[in-house]
Amino acid sequence: MIPFNRPFLPERALGYIAEAYRSGKVSGDGAFTKRCESFLAERYGCHRTLLTTSCTAALELAALLCRIQAGDEVILPSFTFVSTANAFALRGATLVFVDSLPDHPNMDPVRVAEVMTNRTKAIVPVHYAGVAVDMDPILRLARDVGAFVVEDAAQAVEACYRGRPLGTIGDFGAFSFHETKNVHCGEGGLLAVRSAEHVARAEILWEKGTNRRAFFRGETAKYGWVDVGSSFLPADILAALLWSQLEALEEINARRFQLWERYLAALHPLQQAGWLQVPVVPGFAGHNAHCFYVVLHDEPTRARLIKHLQKREVLAVFHYQSLHASPYFADKHDGRPLPHADRFSDCLLRLPLFHDLRDEDQACVIDAVLDFFGIGIG
Ligand SMILES: *Cc1c(COP(=O)(O)O)cnc(C)c1O
Repeated sequence: MIPFNRPFLPERALGYIAEAYRSGKVSGDGAFTKRCESFLAERYGCHRTLLTTSCTAALELAALLCRIQAGDEVILPSFTFVSTANAFALRGATLVFVDSLPDHPNMDPVRVAEVMTNRTKAIVPVHYAGVAVDMDPILRLARDVGAFVVEDAAQAVEACYRGRPLGTIGDFGAFSFHETKNVHCGEGGLLAVRSAEHVARAEILWEKGTNRRAFFRGETAKYGWVDVGSSFLPADILAALLWSQLEALEEINARRFQLWERYLAALHPLQQAGWLQVPVVPGFAGHNAHCFYVVLHDEPTRARLIKHLQKREVLAVFHYQSLHASPYFADKHDGRPLPHADRFSDCLLRLPLFHDLRDEDQACVIDAVLDFFGIGIG
């Protein structure tokens, strides 16, 4: 079976993990944590980055930093992972889900404009497949009412919008290092803090509401409880694994691009024949080959294609189910139809794409898809 994903393990990973052990400091905020954080802060030019146990945790930290309270409105796409929504739901926010673009799963800025009010406290763009949301209109809308912009950049490491790294354009950016993402440490994440004004509080919330980090820098004589917070920091063992991936970042993405481009070239004829759509990448977006997907005409076709691929030993998987229609949220939604989000829920299918996918295995995937549409290789 060709899996959908297989987590990459760089050669140096186990050596770094051993090094973290030998240092005698395996809990959070150790040497590898600092190495990962400063590498990404410098590379992306943001004020501060904090390693977290997941992107989910980074989003929760962001929601706390925005001081979201009951009744505050938060605008987000319906076609996203539950964590985007949960982080704000946990704070009692009123969630306002908006539709995707007609030709891309990303949120439509025109639809965002329609639901803005003076109670809008945050807008949460999700850069699906590492393809940028059109950020300029989002930033303008947020500025008009003084709302925060929190980027769910879970899939967006190394991707950009008009040359600016994703995750550093809004006030906060949340990245994921889950094993399914381009670089990973099993479970992990990162909060990017764009401006200096939020750094001090971010560090405190991250360290269980204490000023421990400032204490270790020698800025205070002792540390104590100064705000709310939680334990958002991962063990340094995980940071060691992450560091091995960050060192290989360019090699990983180069390989993913080869695979992505080959899928595009091979499957584009199916779009021309009217069978499906291949991914759209707008001119303002520099993507990161995170995911290759196709959009079928309807759900039954997708189900038949999944089955066909399974018979050919290929695991292809669909993605999010619209959150506005979920069992938890359906009776809380205001009733606006979100047809594009629903269509991507029903019709989008992701193909295997990971660093160690061999050329010959990718050829099997491509042949199996072409064969389904009767464009067999004989
Ligand atoms: C993967 C993902 C998350 C969650 O990341 P974790 O690190 O697993 O918490 C959130 N949002 C999006 C868009 C994702 O793809």
